[in-house]
Parts: sequence; structure tokens; C-alpha cells
Amino acid sequence: MSVEPDATVVAGLDAWRDLPAGQQPAWPDQAALTRATERLAALPPLVFAGEADALRAQLAAAGRGEAFLLQGGDCAETFAEATADNIRNKIKTILQMAVVLTYGASLPVVKMGRMAGQYAKPRSSGTETRDGVTLPAFRGDIINGFDFTEEARTPDPQRLLEAYHTSASTLNLIRAFTTGGFASLLRVHEWNRGFTTNPAYKRYEEIAAEIDRAIRFMAACGADFDALRTVDFYSSHEGLLLDYERPLTRIDSRTGLPYDCSAHFVWIGERTRELGGAHIDYFSRVQNPIGVKLGPTSTGDDAIALIDKLNPTGEPGRLTFVTRMGAGKIRDHLPQLVEKVTADGRPVTWVCDPMHGNGITSANGYKTRRFSDVMDEVAGFFEVHRSLGTVPGGLHIELTGDDVTEVLGGSEQIDDERLAERYETLVDPRLNHQQSLELAFQVVELLRA
Ligand code: PEP
Ligand code: MN
Repeated sequence: MSVEPDATVVAGLDAWRDLPAGQQPAWPDQAALTRATERLAALPPLVFAGEADALRAQLAAAGRGEAFLLQGGDCAETFAEATADNIRNKIKTILQMAVVLTYGASLPVVKMGRMAGQYAKPRSSGTETRDGVTLPAFRGDIINGFDFTEEARTPDPQRLLEAYHTSASTLNLIRAFTTGGFASLLRVHEWNRGFTTNPAYKRYEEIAAEIDRAIRFMAACGADFDALRTVDFYSSHEGLLLDYERPLTRIDSRTGLPYDCSAHFVWIGERTRELGGAHIDYFSRVQNPIGVKLGPTSTGDDAIALIDKLNPTGEPGRLTFVTRMGAGKIRDHLPQLVEKVTADGRPVTWVCDPMHGNGITSANGYKTRRFSDVMDEVAGFFEVHRSLGTVPGGLHIELTGDDVTEVLGGSEQIDDERLAERYETLVDPRLNHQQSLELAFQVVELLRA
């Protein structure tokens, strides 16, 4: 039986068009845009409403301290890097981290990629100038190209379709990897053994040995069930480009309600979360679990106003606040937010993004972050929640499964000089494979402190 949608609900999905929308491209060819969005609207959904509902329940559990979210992936995915190797390495890294965190937190870890749709980027300036030439800024592969030429930088609506198809093939591989045996616990555990037998990671040997004993115990007991062989893996991206999100929004035939079927989870970025803006309006109308980034200038009143708009009835798991304060600010700024929201009583899931408040420029000109600052913000996040008796619900990390050199520090001691070796990101610096695993082990240390 299918439920017919309410006409006003459907009409509301276009209310954003009359509101100020930050960070949208100036498409030069409206007819081409219409052709692309009509095509998108006719293509199958990338994810299904029931999956988004399952994720909402898991995020609700994370908000109560009964699960922990690990969300990770590139700052900006690119079409060129949507290769089998890259996708596999990212999934592998997230699964490896998840095993360590599952053990450390003694909680199920909800696994989510900044993957299969993370193609649109907000920029601090709409233009970029090099050697006296000014062109539109790179806004992500879904909008324009990175090359500094007029042709590449001109927004091209065909890219909406390429983003859709690249997301579809990424999701296809994710589904294959996470259900086809690749993700089995024993296998992931073997990979982690490879990591901790490297002398550089001696510090983590003890925790690794404990995990090893736990797994051997399970194996000896004959534990052998599906949960050990397959994992649920969810997709997410910043819900930035409304000309992509709107055509991929579909009415769920079970309920008559709209879901943004471009991803399981979408978040609203720090630069587009203004209360009267198009993004807040749009995402208030879809049923997916959604996130909002909260930077160091956000106030308790902002947080309450966001709850009023995005989760007025206080549905558990619907709203996640992803705080990104910076290591130097989190201990001062986070408590007022958490206190105000706790007093309000409507539940939110608190997640820490220790990346975006810790940007620096290296002496040799690279946009980077220090691993130690990332860890310090994570530590601050746990401290604040511990002192207030509230729940740290998860982590949001920019990472890649490859051996890039984009973030300073970690056991590999990447310094300014080494940033030049493999600095490949087009936007923000990512933890590499080893740094990501180190982060997971250090989080276990923090959980025990
Ligand atoms: C991001 O997640 O890549 C991003 C741009 O974050 P923020 O909105 O928090 O600055
Ligand atoms: Mn980023």
C-alpha cells in the first residue's frame, strides 16, 4: 500500500528557492541546468528511505551513549579519485578504526563515509586570483573543475549527472565490500595486526594485544554470525548544492514523506546554517537524519533555534550537532552549548569534528593541521562531556586510506618539508592511513584515562 503525499508537503520542497541560499554557483546556462536537474529527478534514488530510518535509530542510540559514530572521508571527493583502490582503502581505514573504537568504547560503532556524494565545497571567497588573473573559485567537482582556466572554472550542470553516476558506482562498491566478506572482523583484525607490529606504533601494542585476545576468545567460543562478516556502512555529504539535493529528494511510498535520497545522512555546513536561509528550510522538510556544523562563534541560543527549526518535536536521532571549535577553544565554548541544549531537553547527538577548527598554513605555504591539535580537540570534547555528564556521540574526521602527507605530526613525524612529498588534497588536509589508525588507538587511551 502506498501513501499519497500531501500537496503542501511537496510544494514546501521548493520554498528554499525564495530564500537566500549561500554558496550556490552562478550557473551560466539555465536551460542546461534544467535539463540536468530533470534528468536527475528521473534517475533512481541512491539510497532508500528505510536505510535512512535505520541510521536515524542508530544515531539516536549514539546520542544516548549506546553506540558511537565514526564518520570519515575526504574533504572533497573527486571524480578522478573514485577508483576501486581509493574507495577500498578508505573503507578499510574506517573499518580498521571502527574495530579499535568498538573495543575501546565497548559500544557498537556506526560507520559512515564522507563518501559517494561529497563533491560540493563552500569557499571563503567566490573567486581566486593568480598572477593578476581572477576566475571563479573551485567549488568541487559537482560544480566546476580544479584547473585554473576559464573553461574548467565555469560551472557546468553536466557535472550534477557525473556526480550522481560517480556516487552510484562508489555506493555499489561500498555495498559489495561491506557485505561480501571483505569487511569480516577477522580480516580487519589481521590488517590492524599489520599496523601494530610496526615498531613506530609500539605505544599501541598493549591495546592491540588485548583486542587480539578478545578476538581469539570469540573465535574459540565458535562465535560465527553475520554481524562478524558484514557491516552496515552509511553514506553522507554536506548538503550544500540544492540543485542536486532537490531532484534527488523522493516521496517515500510507505509514509508519503520526503527523503533526500542522495545520501543517508546530510549535514549543513558552518557557512550555510543561517536560520532564515535556504539550507535550513530545505533540510527541515526531509526525513533523513541531518547534522549541523557548529563553530566557535555559535551560541546556545543558536543551537536552540536550530532545534526549533530542524527537530521541533525532539525526535531522537534526527539532529546531530557536529562541533568544530578548535583545540584552543573547545573547552571554553562547548560547555555553554551543551548546557543550554541539555536544559532544553530535546535530544541531539553530539559529534566532534576535530579538523576544521585547527587549520594552519605551514611555513612553506601548505594548508595543514597538526595531529596533536586534532587529538587535543578530541580530548577536550571527551572532557567537556564527562564533566557535564552528557554523551560524546562520535567523531567526524577528514581522512584517506592512502599514504599522503597532508597533516603534520603523528608517529611518522611528518614535518613542513615532508608535506611536499604527497600533498594531494584539493581542499582540506586529510589524516593518512597510519594517522587515522593512530587516532583510533589514542581515542582508546583517552577513553581509559
Ligand atoms: C567540511 O566539512 O569540509 C567543511 C567545509 O566544514 P565546515 O562547514 O565545518 O567548515
Ligand atoms: Mn573540509
